[in-house]
Amino acid sequence: MHPLYYGSLLWLAGGGEPPRYPSLSGRSARCDVLIVGGGLTGTLTADALTAAGLSVVLIDEGRIGGGSSAASTGLLQYSNDIMLSDLLSRIGEERAAHFYRACKNAVERLGQLAETLPDDVAFKRRSSLYFASSEADVPKLKTEYEALRARGFSVDWLEQADFRAIFPFAKPAALVTNGDGELNPYRLSVRLAERAAEKGARIHENTSLKSVEGPKGDLACHTSHGTVRASSVIYAVGYRPEIAGLGHLAIKYARTSAIATRVVPSLADWHQRWLLWETARPYLYARTTRDGRVVIGGFDENIREPIADRSALNKQANRLLAEARKLFPELSLETEYAWNAAFCESEDDLPLIGEDPERPGRYVALGYGGNGAVYSMLASGILTEALQGKTSMLAELVGLRSRRTGLPQ
Ligand SMILES: Cc1cc2nc3c(=O)[nH]c(=O)nc-3n(C[C@H](O)[C@H](O)[C@H](O)COP(=O)(O)OP(=O)(O)OC[C@H]3O[C@@H](n4cnc5c(N)ncnc54)[C@H](O)[C@@H]3O)c2cc1C
Repeated sequence: MHPLYYGSLLWLAGGGEPPRYPSLSGRSARCDVLIVGGGLTGTLTADALTAAGLSVVLIDEGRIGGGSSAASTGLLQYSNDIMLSDLLSRIGEERAAHFYRACKNAVERLGQLAETLPDDVAFKRRSSLYFASSEADVPKLKTEYEALRARGFSVDWLEQADFRAIFPFAKPAALVTNGDGELNPYRLSVRLAERAAEKGARIHENTSLKSVEGPKGDLACHTSHGTVRASSVIYAVGYRPEIAGLGHLAIKYARTSAIATRVVPSLADWHQRWLLWETARPYLYARTTRDGRVVIGGFDENIREPIADRSALNKQANRLLAEARKLFPELSLETEYAWNAAFCESEDDLPLIGEDPERPGRYVALGYGGNGAVYSMLASGILTEALQGKTSMLAELVGLRSRRTGLPQ
């Protein structure tokens, strides 16, 4: 069983056999940067670093894209677990607004990047409908609408009466954010790895990092299949911070479920195929796919290990299907894929990206929660700049130094 998920994953079905990469096979390699992990973070960063002229080795203990990037439902949303209105009071106007703008830019850049790839990764620009799960949540959501609008984000507000005209379900109110998107995150990882390899990155699957020793500039990175000598190492290991020696970080672990239905003949009831999510915590979210499926996820549980048996997974899948049918009673929805997967998020809801202040030369990108694709894009930019000796307000905001890391500050 995969350590991160259980069940049948939508993105792993179909789409042709991806390229295979050899394991390191006992050879010793030398490079500027070793990237550990070939999910969205690792492959976006490999693509950016090779374009910047650095020599890169990327290893993955499994297959490229086969970690949580394959389990992702592929919603690209600049709004995230922490509302802008909450972030403003927590970290101040300048930094909060900057973070939200960076997330919005990341969605845009993912779209631009998708266009430069030879193969289609099913990127599509979408708006998101963020609805109030209860009357009690309306004032908070309205505050969020006003906070976004005041800072120039393209947003709309829907009252209960507005729903009737565009959706078969009604909710007390909703915030619509324009400028979000969707894609196939697995295929994006696979295609980025391919392009990075064409530009000179050396990619090795089935090669696991065991330990790293030595000073920045000359790190000896011991793997299951030989040693890589690198000036720097990037731990792009997703929901496994302990591999980066950061198991002590302030991180919450959980697991979550998702289903993808069979192809539905018509999704005309689904207004502009908006991405849907809600104010309840944990929240349900839903999207459609290009081939006409409904994907719905949620029912998070504060348990680190993914579900490991069919009947428990079926139970979660049936709950999700019932929620999807409640939203769209006219659609004939049947589950085709169902999976449960582990995830984790930082306690302050911001990603953790940057150099480990205690161990120079070791960079991390993790603690993403459910907003992994956007944060992976942020990580590739921040880490590329950091390796070129540059920093920024964004890098400082998501960096490890000022966070509750368990390390001396
Ligand atoms: C059910 C579910 C739904 C989600 N939906 C969304 C969504 O809609 N939108 C969104 O933006 N995000 C979503 N996410 C989050 C998203 O999946 C991830 O945050 C994102 O893909 C991050 O990718 P990553 O590259 O950081 O991690 P991963 O894709 O997990 O990649 C890490 C890689 O590291 C490798 N690795 C680990 N240890 C080692 C080692 N010792 N040596 C070598 N390699 C190693 C693994 O094999 C793996 O391939 C979802 C997550 C889940 C679980």
